[in-house]
Amino acid sequence: MAVLALALAMLLLLWVGVLLAFAGPLAARWHEPVLRHPVLIIESDDWGAGPLTQADALTRLSALLQQVCDRNRHPAVMTLGVVLEVPDGPRIAATGCKEYHALPLADARFDAVRMAMQDGIRAGVFAPQLHGQCHYWPPALLVAAQNDESIRDWLTAPDPAATEALPSPLQSRWVDASSLPSRTLSNESIQQAVAAEAVAYRAVFGHAPRVAVATTFVWNDAVEAAWAQEGVEVLITSGPRATCRDAVGAPACLDAAMLSGERSPAGQTYLVRDVYFEPALGHEPQRLVEGLRTRTRQRRACLVETHRFNFLQAREASLATLQAGLNAALAAYPDVRFLTPLELAHAIQRRDPAWIEKRLKPRLAAWRARLDEIPRFRRLAQITGLALPLTLLGRSA
Ligand SMILES: [Zn+2]
Repeated sequence: MAVLALALAMLLLLWVGVLLAFAGPLAARWHEPVLRHPVLIIESDDWGAGPLTQADALTRLSALLQQVCDRNRHPAVMTLGVVLEVPDGPRIAATGCKEYHALPLADARFDAVRMAMQDGIRAGVFAPQLHGQCHYWPPALLVAAQNDESIRDWLTAPDPAATEALPSPLQSRWVDASSLPSRTLSNESIQQAVAAEAVAYRAVFGHAPRVAVATTFVWNDAVEAAWAQEGVEVLITSGPRATCRDAVGAPACLDAAMLSGERSPAGQTYLVRDVYFEPALGHEPQRLVEGLRTRTRQRRACLVETHRFNFLQAREASLATLQAGLNAALAAYPDVRFLTPLELAHAIQRRDPAWIEKRLKPRLAAWRARLDEIPRFRRLAQITGLALPLTLLGRSA
Protein backbone atom coordinates (compact mmCIF):
# COMPACT_ATOMS: atom_id res chain seq x y z
CA MET A 1 0.00 0.00 0.00
CA ALA A 2 2.83 2.33 1.01
CA VAL A 3 4.62 1.51 -2.23
CA LEU A 4 1.52 2.40 -4.21
CA ALA A 5 1.10 5.70 -2.34
CA LEU A 6 4.77 6.49 -2.95
CA ALA A 7 4.43 5.72 -6.66
CA LEU A 8 1.34 7.89 -6.89
CA ALA A 9 3.08 10.72 -5.07
CA MET A 10 6.03 10.48 -7.46
CA LEU A 11 3.70 10.51 -10.45
CA LEU A 12 1.94 13.60 -9.14
CA LEU A 13 5.31 15.25 -8.56
CA LEU A 14 6.34 14.40 -12.10
CA TRP A 15 3.14 15.96 -13.45
CA VAL A 16 3.65 19.08 -11.37
CA GLY A 17 7.20 19.26 -12.72
CA VAL A 18 5.98 19.02 -16.33
CA LEU A 19 3.30 21.67 -15.70
CA LEU A 20 5.83 23.99 -14.07
CA ALA A 21 8.32 23.52 -16.91
CA PHE A 22 5.69 24.77 -19.35
CA ALA A 23 4.06 27.29 -17.01
CA GLY A 24 4.59 30.20 -19.42
CA PRO A 25 2.90 28.78 -22.55
CA LEU A 26 0.21 27.04 -20.45
CA ALA A 27 -0.70 30.26 -18.64
CA ALA A 28 -0.67 32.25 -21.91
CA ARG A 29 -3.22 29.85 -23.42
CA TRP A 30 -5.37 30.08 -20.32
CA HIS A 31 -5.42 33.89 -20.50
CA GLU A 32 -6.05 33.92 -24.26
CA PRO A 33 -9.66 34.98 -24.98
CA VAL A 34 -12.15 32.14 -25.46
CA LEU A 35 -14.70 32.95 -28.16
CA ARG A 36 -18.36 32.06 -27.78
CA HIS A 37 -19.00 31.61 -31.51
CA PRO A 38 -17.08 30.22 -34.48
CA VAL A 39 -15.51 33.15 -36.34
CA LEU A 40 -14.24 33.11 -39.92
CA ILE A 41 -12.33 35.96 -41.56
CA ILE A 42 -10.66 35.75 -44.97
CA GLU A 43 -7.44 37.77 -44.96
CA SER A 44 -6.23 38.69 -48.40
CA ASP A 45 -2.96 40.51 -49.07
CA ASP A 46 -1.18 42.47 -51.78
CA TRP A 47 -4.05 44.48 -53.27
CA GLY A 48 -3.69 48.08 -54.39
CA ALA A 49 -1.02 49.57 -56.61
CA GLY A 50 -0.17 46.93 -59.20
CA PRO A 51 -1.75 45.14 -62.17
CA LEU A 52 -4.91 46.82 -63.43
CA THR A 53 -6.67 43.46 -63.74
CA GLN A 54 -7.20 43.69 -59.96
CA ALA A 55 -10.29 45.86 -60.55
CA ASP A 56 -12.24 43.02 -62.19
CA ALA A 57 -11.01 40.50 -59.64
CA LEU A 58 -12.13 42.73 -56.74
CA THR A 59 -15.54 43.31 -58.32
CA ARG A 60 -16.06 39.56 -58.72
CA LEU A 61 -14.88 38.90 -55.15
CA SER A 62 -17.21 41.55 -53.76
CA ALA A 63 -20.21 40.03 -55.55
CA LEU A 64 -19.27 36.55 -54.35
CA LEU A 65 -18.84 37.60 -50.71
CA GLN A 66 -22.16 39.45 -50.69
CA GLN A 67 -23.92 36.17 -51.52
CA VAL A 68 -22.58 34.42 -48.42
CA CYS A 69 -24.14 35.62 -45.16
CA ASP A 70 -24.05 34.42 -41.57
CA ARG A 71 -27.21 33.96 -39.49
CA ASN A 72 -27.14 37.66 -38.56
CA ARG A 73 -27.22 38.45 -42.29
CA HIS A 74 -23.67 39.78 -42.09
CA PRO A 75 -21.87 39.02 -45.37
CA ALA A 76 -18.52 37.23 -45.46
CA VAL A 77 -15.61 39.61 -44.87
CA MET A 78 -12.36 39.68 -46.77
CA THR A 79 -9.61 41.98 -45.59
CA LEU A 80 -7.59 43.74 -48.24
CA GLY A 81 -3.95 44.07 -47.23
CA VAL A 82 -3.24 47.22 -49.21
CA VAL A 83 -0.01 48.23 -50.92
CA LEU A 84 0.12 51.95 -51.68
CA GLU A 85 2.67 52.16 -54.48
CA VAL A 86 4.69 50.29 -57.09
CA PRO A 87 7.78 51.53 -58.94
CA ASP A 88 7.36 54.13 -61.67
CA GLY A 89 9.40 52.12 -64.16
CA PRO A 90 9.99 54.70 -66.91
CA ARG A 91 11.09 57.38 -64.43
CA ILE A 92 13.44 54.99 -62.65
CA ALA A 93 14.84 53.85 -66.01
CA ALA A 94 15.54 57.49 -66.93
CA THR A 95 17.88 57.74 -63.92
CA GLY A 96 19.73 54.53 -64.84
CA CYS A 97 18.25 52.90 -61.71
CA LYS A 98 20.07 55.41 -59.52
CA GLU A 99 16.86 56.99 -58.17
CA TYR A 100 13.61 55.49 -57.00
CA HIS A 101 10.28 56.95 -58.14
CA ALA A 102 6.88 55.67 -57.12
CA LEU A 103 3.59 55.19 -58.91
CA PRO A 104 1.06 55.72 -56.09
CA LEU A 105 -2.30 54.01 -55.66
CA ALA A 106 -3.83 57.51 -55.72
CA ASP A 107 -2.73 57.85 -59.39
CA ALA A 108 -5.55 58.10 -61.96
CA ARG A 109 -4.30 54.88 -63.57
CA PHE A 110 -5.63 53.01 -60.53
CA ASP A 111 -9.06 54.68 -60.49
CA ALA A 112 -10.88 51.45 -61.31
CA VAL A 113 -8.94 49.49 -58.66
CA ARG A 114 -9.73 52.04 -55.97
CA MET A 115 -13.40 52.19 -57.01
CA ALA A 116 -13.70 48.40 -56.83
CA MET A 117 -12.18 48.50 -53.33
CA GLN A 118 -14.53 51.26 -52.19
CA ASP A 119 -17.60 49.49 -53.61
CA GLY A 120 -16.75 46.39 -51.59
CA ILE A 121 -16.05 48.45 -48.46
CA ARG A 122 -19.47 50.12 -48.78
CA ALA A 123 -21.10 46.72 -49.23
CA GLY A 124 -19.46 45.55 -45.98
CA VAL A 125 -17.42 42.75 -47.57
CA PHE A 126 -13.97 44.38 -47.82
CA ALA A 127 -12.02 45.64 -44.81
CA PRO A 128 -8.85 47.48 -45.87
CA GLN A 129 -5.73 47.19 -43.75
CA LEU A 130 -2.22 48.49 -44.17
CA HIS A 131 0.19 46.07 -45.83
CA GLY A 132 2.76 48.76 -46.61
CA GLN A 133 3.58 51.78 -48.68
CA CYS A 134 5.25 49.27 -50.94
CA HIS A 135 6.01 45.56 -50.81
CA TYR A 136 9.78 46.16 -50.58
CA TRP A 137 12.30 48.56 -49.12
CA PRO A 138 13.07 50.92 -52.05
CA PRO A 139 16.78 51.57 -51.27
CA ALA A 140 17.38 47.81 -51.08
CA LEU A 141 15.83 47.36 -54.53
CA LEU A 142 18.09 50.03 -56.03
CA VAL A 143 21.17 48.31 -54.64
CA ALA A 144 19.97 44.88 -55.77
CA ALA A 145 19.27 46.28 -59.26
CA GLN A 146 22.93 47.28 -59.67
CA ASN A 147 23.97 43.62 -59.58
CA ASP A 148 20.94 41.78 -60.87
CA GLU A 149 19.52 42.28 -64.34
CA SER A 150 16.16 40.70 -63.50
CA ILE A 151 15.63 43.17 -60.63
CA ARG A 152 16.62 46.00 -62.96
CA ASP A 153 14.07 44.81 -65.54
CA TRP A 154 11.36 44.50 -62.90
CA LEU A 155 12.10 47.95 -61.49
CA THR A 156 12.02 49.66 -64.88
CA ALA A 157 9.08 47.84 -66.49
CA PRO A 158 6.58 50.25 -68.10
CA ASP A 159 3.41 48.59 -66.69
CA PRO A 160 2.49 48.65 -62.97
CA ALA A 161 4.53 45.84 -61.48
CA ALA A 162 3.40 42.71 -59.63
CA THR A 163 5.51 42.43 -56.47
CA GLU A 164 4.89 38.68 -56.35
CA ALA A 165 7.59 38.43 -59.05
CA LEU A 166 10.32 39.78 -56.76
CA PRO A 167 12.63 37.36 -54.92
CA SER A 168 11.01 36.67 -51.55
CA PRO A 169 13.67 38.36 -49.33
CA LEU A 170 13.26 41.60 -51.28
CA GLN A 171 9.50 41.51 -50.65
CA SER A 172 10.17 42.22 -46.95
CA ARG A 173 9.62 45.93 -46.37
CA TRP A 174 11.21 46.28 -42.94
CA VAL A 175 14.74 44.98 -43.58
CA ASP A 176 17.44 45.72 -46.11
CA ALA A 177 17.77 42.39 -47.93
CA SER A 178 19.86 43.72 -50.83
CA SER A 179 22.48 41.30 -49.54
CA LEU A 180 22.02 38.39 -47.15
CA PRO A 181 21.73 38.05 -44.26
CA SER A 182 19.59 41.19 -44.19
CA ARG A 183 20.51 44.34 -42.31
CA THR A 184 18.35 46.14 -39.77
CA LEU A 185 16.93 49.53 -40.75
CA SER A 186 17.49 52.54 -38.52
CA ASN A 187 14.61 53.51 -36.24
CA GLU A 188 14.59 56.94 -37.84
CA SER A 189 14.12 55.60 -41.37
CA ILE A 190 11.36 53.29 -40.11
CA GLN A 191 9.55 56.20 -38.44
CA GLN A 192 9.78 58.35 -41.57
CA ALA A 193 8.57 55.53 -43.80
CA VAL A 194 5.64 54.72 -41.51
CA ALA A 195 4.61 58.39 -41.27
CA ALA A 196 4.63 58.57 -45.10
CA GLU A 197 2.61 55.39 -45.54
CA ALA A 198 0.00 56.58 -43.05
CA VAL A 199 -0.41 59.79 -45.07
CA ALA A 200 -0.74 57.78 -48.30
CA TYR A 201 -3.28 55.42 -46.70
CA ARG A 202 -5.36 58.35 -45.45
CA ALA A 203 -5.31 59.92 -48.91
CA VAL A 204 -6.93 56.81 -50.38
CA PHE A 205 -9.27 55.67 -47.59
CA GLY A 206 -10.01 58.94 -45.76
CA HIS A 207 -8.88 57.69 -42.36
CA ALA A 208 -5.76 56.40 -40.63
CA PRO A 209 -4.90 52.71 -40.91
CA ARG A 210 -6.08 50.84 -37.82
CA VAL A 211 -4.98 47.32 -38.72
CA ALA A 212 -1.58 46.43 -40.18
CA VAL A 213 0.01 43.28 -41.54
CA ALA A 214 3.72 43.43 -42.34
CA THR A 215 4.81 42.17 -45.76
CA THR A 216 6.19 38.61 -45.50
CA PHE A 217 5.61 38.81 -41.71
CA VAL A 218 9.04 40.36 -41.09
CA TRP A 219 8.99 43.35 -38.73
CA ASN A 220 10.13 44.49 -35.30
CA ASP A 221 9.28 46.58 -32.23
CA ALA A 222 10.37 49.82 -33.94
CA VAL A 223 7.82 49.25 -36.72
CA GLU A 224 5.08 48.50 -34.18
CA ALA A 225 5.89 51.66 -32.20
CA ALA A 226 5.83 53.79 -35.36
CA TRP A 227 2.53 52.22 -36.46
CA ALA A 228 1.06 52.92 -33.02
CA GLN A 229 1.98 56.59 -33.44
CA GLU A 230 -0.05 56.65 -36.66
CA GLY A 231 -3.14 55.03 -35.16
CA VAL A 232 -2.61 51.32 -35.90
CA GLU A 233 -4.23 49.43 -33.04
CA VAL A 234 -4.37 45.86 -34.36
CA LEU A 235 -1.48 43.77 -35.72
CA ILE A 236 -1.96 40.61 -37.75
CA THR A 237 0.66 37.95 -37.03
CA SER A 238 1.23 34.34 -38.00
CA GLY A 239 2.26 33.69 -34.37
CA PRO A 240 6.06 33.80 -34.26
CA ARG A 241 7.70 37.06 -35.32
CA ALA A 242 10.68 37.09 -37.69
CA THR A 243 12.80 40.23 -37.63
CA CYS A 244 15.39 39.43 -40.34
CA ARG A 245 16.22 37.33 -43.39
CA ASP A 246 19.01 34.82 -42.83
CA ALA A 247 21.95 33.91 -45.09
CA VAL A 248 19.72 31.89 -47.43
CA GLY A 249 16.94 34.51 -47.39
CA ALA A 250 14.51 32.72 -45.07
CA PRO A 251 12.61 34.71 -42.42
CA ALA A 252 14.62 34.35 -39.20
CA CYS A 253 15.74 36.10 -35.98
CA LEU A 254 12.49 35.05 -34.25
CA ASP A 255 12.10 37.26 -31.20
CA ALA A 256 8.50 36.76 -30.08
CA ALA A 257 5.57 34.36 -30.22
CA MET A 258 2.14 35.93 -30.09
CA LEU A 259 -1.33 34.68 -29.26
CA SER A 260 -4.53 36.49 -30.22
CA GLY A 261 -5.49 39.12 -27.67
CA GLU A 262 -1.94 39.68 -26.42
CA ARG A 263 -0.70 43.27 -26.49
CA SER A 264 2.39 44.64 -28.22
CA PRO A 265 4.85 46.77 -26.20
CA ALA A 266 3.21 49.75 -27.96
CA GLY A 267 -0.23 48.60 -26.77
CA GLN A 268 -1.65 47.11 -29.98
CA THR A 269 -3.74 43.94 -30.00
CA TYR A 270 -2.34 40.95 -31.89
CA LEU A 271 -4.59 38.69 -33.94
CA VAL A 272 -3.17 35.39 -35.17
CA ARG A 273 -3.85 34.25 -38.73
CA ASP A 274 -2.53 30.78 -39.34
CA VAL A 275 -4.76 28.98 -41.83
CA TYR A 276 -3.37 29.05 -45.37
CA PHE A 277 -5.74 28.90 -48.28
CA GLU A 278 -4.31 29.45 -51.73
CA PRO A 279 -6.64 27.85 -54.29
CA ALA A 280 -4.14 28.46 -57.11
CA LEU A 281 -1.68 26.23 -55.23
CA GLY A 282 -4.18 23.39 -55.17
CA HIS A 283 -5.81 24.01 -51.79
CA GLU A 284 -9.30 22.47 -51.67
CA PRO A 285 -12.47 24.02 -50.16
CA GLN A 286 -12.28 21.45 -47.35
CA ARG A 287 -9.10 23.11 -46.09
CA LEU A 288 -11.18 26.10 -45.03
CA VAL A 289 -13.61 23.88 -43.13
CA GLU A 290 -10.79 21.98 -41.41
CA GLY A 291 -9.13 25.23 -40.37
CA LEU A 292 -12.41 26.48 -38.94
CA ARG A 293 -12.99 23.15 -37.15
CA THR A 294 -9.63 23.23 -35.35
CA ARG A 295 -9.94 26.91 -34.38
CA THR A 296 -13.52 26.41 -33.22
CA ARG A 297 -12.46 23.50 -30.99
CA GLN A 298 -9.83 25.83 -29.54
CA ARG A 299 -12.46 28.59 -29.32
CA ARG A 300 -10.30 30.83 -31.47
CA ALA A 301 -11.13 32.90 -34.52
CA CYS A 302 -10.17 31.33 -37.83
CA LEU A 303 -8.20 33.91 -39.80
CA VAL A 304 -7.46 32.57 -43.25
CA GLU A 305 -4.54 33.86 -45.27
CA THR A 306 -4.85 34.12 -49.01
CA HIS A 307 -3.33 36.39 -51.67
CA ARG A 308 -4.44 38.31 -54.70
CA PHE A 309 -2.33 36.11 -57.03
CA ASN A 310 -5.01 33.41 -56.73
CA PHE A 311 -7.58 35.77 -58.19
CA LEU A 312 -5.30 37.22 -60.87
CA GLN A 313 -3.59 34.06 -62.15
CA ALA A 314 -6.43 31.53 -61.86
CA ARG A 315 -9.46 33.71 -61.30
CA GLU A 316 -12.42 31.48 -62.12
CA ALA A 317 -11.08 28.39 -60.40
CA SER A 318 -9.99 30.36 -57.30
CA LEU A 319 -13.34 32.14 -57.03
CA ALA A 320 -15.17 28.81 -57.30
CA THR A 321 -12.95 27.24 -54.63
CA LEU A 322 -13.41 30.19 -52.28
CA GLN A 323 -17.17 30.11 -52.74
CA ALA A 324 -17.30 26.36 -52.16
CA GLY A 325 -15.11 26.75 -49.07
CA LEU A 326 -17.29 29.48 -47.57
CA ASN A 327 -20.48 27.53 -48.25
CA ALA A 328 -18.99 24.36 -46.78
CA ALA A 329 -17.89 26.31 -43.68
CA LEU A 330 -21.42 27.69 -43.28
CA ALA A 331 -22.92 24.23 -43.70
CA ALA A 332 -20.56 22.72 -41.11
CA TYR A 333 -20.93 25.62 -38.67
CA PRO A 334 -24.30 27.33 -39.21
CA ASP A 335 -23.59 29.62 -36.26
CA VAL A 336 -20.30 30.89 -37.72
CA ARG A 337 -19.93 34.68 -37.59
CA PHE A 338 -18.31 36.98 -40.14
CA LEU A 339 -16.78 40.19 -38.86
CA THR A 340 -13.75 42.40 -39.43
CA PRO A 341 -10.46 42.00 -37.55
CA LEU A 342 -11.05 45.43 -36.00
CA GLU A 343 -14.46 44.35 -34.67
CA LEU A 344 -12.95 41.15 -33.33
CA ALA A 345 -10.08 43.03 -31.66
CA HIS A 346 -12.53 45.46 -30.05
CA ALA A 347 -14.64 42.58 -28.71
CA ILE A 348 -11.47 41.07 -27.24
CA GLN A 349 -10.24 44.38 -25.79
CA ARG A 350 -13.59 45.04 -24.14
CA ARG A 351 -14.02 41.40 -23.06
CA ASP A 352 -17.45 41.80 -24.64
CA PRO A 353 -19.72 39.16 -23.04
CA ALA A 354 -21.54 38.72 -26.36
CA TRP A 355 -18.30 37.36 -27.85
CA ILE A 356 -16.02 36.29 -25.01
CA GLU A 357 -16.74 33.21 -22.89
CA LYS A 358 -16.50 33.65 -19.14
CA ARG A 359 -17.83 30.30 -17.91
CA LEU A 360 -15.22 27.97 -16.45
CA LYS A 361 -16.10 24.71 -18.18
CA PRO A 362 -15.96 25.95 -21.79
CA ARG A 363 -12.77 27.80 -20.93
CA LEU A 364 -11.21 24.59 -19.61
CA ALA A 365 -12.19 22.71 -22.76
CA ALA A 366 -10.69 25.45 -24.96
CA TRP A 367 -7.50 25.46 -22.90
CA ARG A 368 -7.16 21.69 -23.19
CA ALA A 369 -7.65 21.88 -26.97
CA ARG A 370 -4.95 24.54 -27.24
CA LEU A 371 -2.30 22.57 -25.37
CA ASP A 372 -1.71 20.08 -28.18
CA GLU A 373 -0.04 22.81 -30.23
CA ILE A 374 2.90 22.90 -27.78
CA PRO A 375 4.83 19.94 -29.28
CA ARG A 376 7.23 19.14 -26.39
CA PHE A 377 4.49 19.52 -23.81
CA ARG A 378 2.21 17.23 -25.79
CA ARG A 379 4.91 14.54 -25.98
CA LEU A 380 5.81 14.79 -22.31
CA ALA A 381 2.14 14.76 -21.28
CA GLN A 382 1.68 11.53 -23.23
CA ILE A 383 4.82 9.87 -21.87
CA THR A 384 4.06 10.74 -18.25
CA GLY A 385 0.33 10.02 -18.44
CA LEU A 386 -0.53 13.65 -17.68
CA ALA A 387 -2.54 13.73 -20.92
CA LEU A 388 -5.23 11.54 -19.30
CA PRO A 389 -6.28 13.87 -16.45
CA LEU A 390 -5.98 16.84 -18.82
CA THR A 391 -8.31 15.17 -21.31
CA LEU A 392 -10.80 14.35 -18.52
CA LEU A 393 -10.61 17.97 -17.45
CA GLY A 394 -11.36 19.13 -21.00
CA ARG A 395 -14.24 16.64 -21.39
CA SER A 396 -15.87 17.67 -18.13
CA ALA A 397 -16.90 20.80 -19.98
ZN1 LIG B 1 2.17 40.51 -49.17
